[in-house]
Amino acid sequence: MGTRITVELWADDKASGERAIEAVLDSMRHVDESMSTYKPTSEVSQVNARAADGPMPITQELFDLLTAAREYSVLTEGAFDITYASVGYMYDFRSHVRPTEGQIDKALPAVDYRHVVLDAKQQTVRFTQQGVRIDLGGIAKGYSVDRAIGVLQSLGVTRAYVSAGGDSRIIGDRFGKPWIVGIRDPTKGEGSVITRIPLVNAAISTSGDYERYFEEGGVRYHHIIDPHTGHSASKVRSATIIGPNATRTDGLSKTAFVLGPEKAMEIYNRIDDIDAIIVRLDGTLMHSKGLEPAH
Ligand code: ADP
Ligand code: MG
Repeated sequence: MGTRITVELWADDKASGERAIEAVLDSMRHVDESMSTYKPTSEVSQVNARAADGPMPITQELFDLLTAAREYSVLTEGAFDITYASVGYMYDFRSHVRPTEGQIDKALPAVDYRHVVLDAKQQTVRFTQQGVRIDLGGIAKGYSVDRAIGVLQSLGVTRAYVSAGGDSRIIGDRFGKPWIVGIRDPTKGEGSVITRIPLVNAAISTSGDYERYFEEGGVRYHHIIDPHTGHSASKVRSATIIGPNATRTDGLSKTAFVLGPEKAMEIYNRIDDIDAIIVRLDGTLMHSKGLEPAH
């Protein structure tokens, strides 16, 4: 996945701890193999190649993820949208490549999560038109963390921390104390922390404008795409979501970039099982109602 994986856990002995870490890495490799759009053999690449021709049977795992993605699109009023890739595939942030206005205009009608039709009975997916592409990059890391936590739990691990890039999840506490997770200060360099959150049995995801971008003519092109314009979205410096699982927190962390801090916080405050911390463009902090100090 091209990202740093961290696994911390308590085990009875060294050998069982190492086995658990190997199992986590195997699980992450599986997610990469089936979700990567860089691999033509992945299940997602197969869907992109064939789903516009008619309903296509997919694995339960992918079906469930597409169902979750759809839920996040509805919750965020379309800010999260895996069909962003219909335009997004023309960006290459490593090589500083971006589409022309003409290319964007042409591809933009294919961006709309409603173009992805799921049939639960048949367990199939279909695209309503040619040109639609999906990319699960907006939830894949969070999902890989959730899957890893599931693997650890099945091995009897009760206290662990797993992270993949900006997505983390914790099970248990640290022997009576919470885990402390730092949120990076997006206005400063790596290692600087803007705030620290104590967490037990929770997931936390941060999207930041310091991840994967390039600058051209004074404009920062960042890897979150506004599905309505096809342009890079950068209405905040970072957004952190705390919630029950990392697929969900990952899926919701991109919304603030697309909708801006006020509208995004309105949406975050409506979702019962999450909290949010946004760093605005001017570097100031904004947090959801659930994080207001008790009186
Ligand atoms: P990371 O990849 O480091 O976890 P994010 O969690 O911020 O970073 O996710 C950014 C990724 O989300 C992009 O690389 C892209 O794959 C995907 N993405 C970009 N724009 C959207 C969007 N509007 N809706 C859903 N996914 C998106
Ligand atoms: Mg993420």
